[in-house]
Amino acid sequence: DIPVITVDGPSGSGKGTLAQRLAQHLEWHYLDSGAMYRVLALAADKHSIAPNDSQQLEALAQNLDVRFISGLGGMPARVFLEDVEVGDSIRREECGNAASKIAALAEVRRALLMRQRAFRKTPGLVTDGRDMGTVVFPEAALKIFLTASPYERARRRYKQLKEKGIGANLKNLEKEIAERDRRDCERNIAPLKPADDAIILDSTNLAIKDVFQQVLPWLSG
Ligand code: C5P
Repeated sequence: DIPVITVDGPSGSGKGTLAQRLAQHLEWHYLDSGAMYRVLALAADKHSIAPNDSQQLEALAQNLDVRFISGLGGMPARVFLEDVEVGDSIRREECGNAASKIAALAEVRRALLMRQRAFRKTPGLVTDGRDMGTVVFPEAALKIFLTASPYERARRRYKQLKEKGIGANLKNLEKEIAERDRRDCERNIAPLKPADDAIILDSTNLAIKDVFQQVLPWLSG
Protein backbone atom coordinates (compact mmCIF):
# COMPACT_ATOMS: atom_id res chain seq x y z
CA ASP A 1 0.00 0.00 0.00
CA ILE A 2 1.15 3.50 -0.79
CA PRO A 3 1.63 5.34 2.54
CA VAL A 4 -0.28 8.52 3.39
CA ILE A 5 0.24 11.13 6.11
CA THR A 6 -2.62 13.52 6.79
CA VAL A 7 -2.37 16.95 8.41
CA ASP A 8 -5.75 18.48 9.22
CA GLY A 9 -6.73 21.55 11.16
CA PRO A 10 -8.28 25.01 11.01
CA SER A 11 -6.93 27.83 8.87
CA GLY A 12 -3.67 29.35 10.04
CA SER A 13 -2.78 26.36 12.20
CA GLY A 14 0.38 25.85 10.15
CA LYS A 15 -0.84 22.61 8.55
CA GLY A 16 0.12 23.64 5.02
CA THR A 17 3.68 24.52 6.00
CA LEU A 18 4.07 21.36 8.07
CA ALA A 19 2.68 19.13 5.31
CA GLN A 20 4.99 20.70 2.74
CA ARG A 21 8.02 20.25 4.99
CA LEU A 22 7.15 16.63 5.62
CA ALA A 23 6.70 15.98 1.89
CA GLN A 24 10.04 17.64 1.22
CA HIS A 25 11.77 15.63 3.94
CA LEU A 26 10.32 12.29 2.80
CA GLU A 27 10.42 13.19 -0.91
CA TRP A 28 6.75 12.27 -1.19
CA HIS A 29 3.94 13.93 -3.13
CA TYR A 30 1.98 16.76 -1.58
CA LEU A 31 -1.72 17.59 -1.94
CA ASP A 32 -3.12 20.92 -0.74
CA SER A 33 -6.81 19.89 -0.69
CA GLY A 34 -7.92 23.37 0.35
CA ALA A 35 -6.57 24.67 -2.97
CA MET A 36 -9.07 22.41 -4.78
CA TYR A 37 -11.98 24.02 -2.97
CA ARG A 38 -10.48 27.46 -3.54
CA VAL A 39 -10.01 26.86 -7.28
CA LEU A 40 -13.55 25.52 -7.52
CA ALA A 41 -14.82 28.73 -5.87
CA LEU A 42 -12.79 30.75 -8.37
CA ALA A 43 -14.18 28.74 -11.29
CA ALA A 44 -17.75 29.14 -9.99
CA ASP A 45 -17.26 32.88 -9.88
CA LYS A 46 -15.76 32.90 -13.37
CA HIS A 47 -18.71 30.93 -14.77
CA SER A 48 -21.28 32.90 -12.75
CA ILE A 49 -22.53 29.88 -10.79
CA ALA A 50 -24.22 30.78 -7.50
CA PRO A 51 -22.61 29.34 -4.31
CA ASN A 52 -25.83 27.46 -3.48
CA ASP A 53 -26.43 25.94 -6.93
CA SER A 54 -25.36 22.44 -5.90
CA GLN A 55 -26.15 20.77 -9.24
CA GLN A 56 -24.12 23.18 -11.34
CA LEU A 57 -21.33 23.12 -8.75
CA GLU A 58 -21.27 19.33 -8.81
CA ALA A 59 -20.91 19.32 -12.59
CA LEU A 60 -18.23 22.00 -12.36
CA ALA A 61 -16.32 19.98 -9.73
CA GLN A 62 -16.51 16.82 -11.84
CA ASN A 63 -15.16 18.54 -14.93
CA LEU A 64 -12.91 21.08 -13.28
CA ASP A 65 -9.86 21.60 -15.44
CA VAL A 66 -7.42 22.13 -12.59
CA ARG A 67 -3.76 21.14 -12.62
CA PHE A 68 -1.23 21.21 -9.83
CA ILE A 69 2.31 21.42 -11.07
CA SER A 70 4.63 20.21 -8.35
CA GLY A 71 7.16 17.48 -8.54
CA LEU A 72 8.32 15.53 -5.55
CA GLY A 73 9.70 17.54 -2.70
CA GLY A 74 6.65 19.31 -1.35
CA MET A 75 7.18 22.69 -2.94
CA PRO A 76 4.01 24.80 -2.95
CA ALA A 77 2.27 23.75 -6.15
CA ARG A 78 1.69 26.04 -9.08
CA VAL A 79 -2.05 25.92 -9.68
CA PHE A 80 -3.69 26.22 -13.10
CA LEU A 81 -7.39 26.67 -13.84
CA GLU A 82 -8.32 26.08 -17.49
CA ASP A 83 -4.64 26.52 -18.42
CA VAL A 84 -4.31 29.88 -16.69
CA GLU A 85 -2.08 30.06 -13.62
CA VAL A 86 -4.20 31.29 -10.71
CA GLY A 87 -1.23 32.49 -8.67
CA ASP A 88 -1.93 34.02 -5.27
CA SER A 89 -5.49 35.09 -6.14
CA ILE A 90 -6.85 31.93 -4.48
CA ARG A 91 -5.09 32.85 -1.22
CA ARG A 92 -7.32 35.84 -0.54
CA GLU A 93 -9.70 35.49 2.38
CA GLU A 94 -12.69 36.19 0.08
CA CYS A 95 -11.74 33.09 -1.89
CA GLY A 96 -11.29 31.02 1.29
CA ASN A 97 -14.68 32.19 2.46
CA ALA A 98 -16.35 31.31 -0.86
CA ALA A 99 -14.54 27.95 -0.79
CA SER A 100 -15.92 27.13 2.66
CA LYS A 101 -19.50 27.87 1.49
CA ILE A 102 -19.34 25.46 -1.44
CA ALA A 103 -17.37 22.96 0.68
CA ALA A 104 -20.51 22.47 2.80
CA LEU A 105 -22.33 20.90 -0.19
CA ALA A 106 -22.40 17.09 -0.25
CA GLU A 107 -22.46 17.06 -4.08
CA VAL A 108 -19.26 19.09 -4.26
CA ARG A 109 -17.42 16.95 -1.71
CA ARG A 110 -18.48 13.75 -3.47
CA ALA A 111 -17.22 15.06 -6.80
CA LEU A 112 -13.82 16.00 -5.37
CA LEU A 113 -13.28 12.82 -3.34
CA MET A 114 -11.92 10.62 -6.13
CA ARG A 115 -9.84 13.45 -7.51
CA GLN A 116 -8.17 13.83 -4.12
CA ARG A 117 -7.56 10.10 -3.75
CA ALA A 118 -5.88 10.09 -7.17
CA PHE A 119 -2.95 12.01 -5.65
CA ARG A 120 -1.90 8.89 -3.75
CA LYS A 121 1.09 7.79 -5.81
CA THR A 122 4.40 6.11 -5.03
CA PRO A 123 6.46 6.67 -2.98
CA GLY A 124 3.83 8.33 -0.74
CA LEU A 125 1.54 11.29 -0.12
CA VAL A 126 1.42 14.03 2.48
CA THR A 127 -1.84 15.95 2.38
CA ASP A 128 -3.43 18.78 4.33
CA GLY A 129 -7.03 19.92 4.72
CA ARG A 130 -10.01 19.48 6.99
CA ASP A 131 -11.17 15.89 6.37
CA MET A 132 -8.09 14.17 4.98
CA GLY A 133 -7.82 11.86 8.03
CA THR A 134 -11.55 11.46 8.70
CA VAL A 135 -13.00 10.96 5.20
CA VAL A 136 -10.56 10.97 2.30
CA PHE A 137 -7.73 8.80 3.68
CA PRO A 138 -9.20 7.13 6.80
CA GLU A 139 -6.57 4.37 6.54
CA ALA A 140 -3.61 6.81 6.68
CA ALA A 141 -0.76 5.53 8.83
CA LEU A 142 -0.11 8.85 10.54
CA LYS A 143 -2.76 11.51 11.17
CA ILE A 144 -1.88 14.84 12.68
CA PHE A 145 -4.42 17.42 13.80
CA LEU A 146 -2.78 20.81 14.17
CA THR A 147 -4.41 23.61 16.16
CA ALA A 148 -3.45 27.01 17.53
CA SER A 149 -5.34 29.77 19.34
CA PRO A 150 -7.66 31.88 17.15
CA TYR A 151 -5.55 35.00 17.69
CA GLU A 152 -2.31 33.24 16.78
CA ARG A 153 -3.89 31.77 13.62
CA ALA A 154 -5.15 35.18 12.50
CA ARG A 155 -1.71 36.65 13.16
CA ARG A 156 0.00 33.96 11.06
CA ARG A 157 -2.48 34.37 8.23
CA TYR A 158 -1.92 38.12 8.32
CA LYS A 159 1.83 37.64 8.04
CA GLN A 160 1.43 35.12 5.16
CA LEU A 161 -0.83 37.47 3.20
CA LYS A 162 1.54 40.40 3.80
CA GLU A 163 4.44 38.33 2.44
CA LYS A 164 2.43 37.64 -0.70
CA GLY A 165 1.67 41.35 -1.06
CA ILE A 166 -2.02 40.82 -0.33
CA GLY A 167 -3.41 43.61 1.86
CA ALA A 168 -5.23 42.55 5.02
CA ASN A 169 -6.51 43.93 8.30
CA LEU A 170 -5.75 41.85 11.39
CA LYS A 171 -9.04 42.62 13.17
CA ASN A 172 -11.15 41.80 10.08
CA LEU A 173 -9.09 38.70 9.44
CA GLU A 174 -9.74 37.45 12.96
CA LYS A 175 -13.47 37.85 12.39
CA GLU A 176 -13.43 36.24 8.94
CA ILE A 177 -11.36 33.28 10.11
CA ALA A 178 -13.63 32.73 13.12
CA GLU A 179 -16.67 32.77 10.84
CA ARG A 180 -15.07 30.34 8.38
CA ASP A 181 -13.99 27.99 11.19
CA ARG A 182 -17.51 27.98 12.59
CA ARG A 183 -18.93 27.08 9.17
CA ASP A 184 -16.31 24.33 8.69
CA CYS A 185 -16.99 22.86 12.15
CA GLU A 186 -20.77 23.06 12.07
CA ARG A 187 -21.52 21.73 8.59
CA ASN A 188 -23.32 18.39 8.31
CA ILE A 189 -20.87 16.75 5.96
CA ALA A 190 -17.20 16.13 6.79
CA PRO A 191 -17.08 18.70 9.60
CA LEU A 192 -13.68 19.85 10.79
CA LYS A 193 -12.69 17.58 13.68
CA PRO A 194 -9.77 15.33 14.55
CA ALA A 195 -9.99 11.69 13.46
CA ASP A 196 -10.30 9.31 16.43
CA ASP A 197 -6.76 8.10 15.79
CA ALA A 198 -5.22 11.52 15.10
CA ILE A 199 -2.43 13.01 17.20
CA ILE A 200 -3.50 16.49 18.28
CA LEU A 201 -0.76 19.09 18.40
CA ASP A 202 -1.24 22.66 19.63
CA SER A 203 1.23 24.91 17.82
CA THR A 204 0.25 28.20 19.50
CA ASN A 205 3.63 28.60 21.16
CA LEU A 206 5.72 26.66 18.66
CA ALA A 207 7.71 27.86 15.67
CA ILE A 208 7.29 25.75 12.54
CA LYS A 209 10.75 24.21 12.98
CA ASP A 210 9.73 23.06 16.48
CA VAL A 211 6.50 21.56 15.19
CA PHE A 212 8.53 19.73 12.54
CA GLN A 213 11.02 18.45 15.15
CA GLN A 214 8.17 17.20 17.31
CA VAL A 215 6.61 15.29 14.40
CA LEU A 216 9.84 13.73 13.03
CA PRO A 217 9.97 10.79 15.53
CA TRP A 218 6.37 9.89 14.63
CA LEU A 219 7.38 9.17 11.04
CA SER A 220 9.12 5.93 11.94
CA GLY A 221 6.37 4.79 14.31
O1 C5P B 1 -7.14 25.06 3.87
P1 C5P B 1 -7.77 26.22 3.16
O2 C5P B 1 -7.91 27.44 4.02
O3 C5P B 1 -7.08 26.53 1.87
O4 C5P B 1 -9.25 25.72 2.77
C1 C5P B 1 -10.22 26.60 2.27
C2 C5P B 1 -11.62 26.07 2.62
O5 C5P B 1 -11.86 24.86 1.90
C3 C5P B 1 -11.81 25.70 4.09
O6 C5P B 1 -12.26 26.78 4.89
C4 C5P B 1 -12.83 24.57 4.04
O7 C5P B 1 -14.14 25.06 4.05
C5 C5P B 1 -12.59 23.94 2.68
N1 C5P B 1 -11.88 22.67 2.80
C6 C5P B 1 -12.60 21.54 3.12
N2 C5P B 1 -11.98 20.34 3.17
C7 C5P B 1 -10.67 20.22 2.94
C8 C5P B 1 -9.89 21.36 2.64
C9 C5P B 1 -10.53 22.58 2.60
O8 C5P B 1 -13.80 21.63 3.36
N3 C5P B 1 -10.11 19.02 2.97
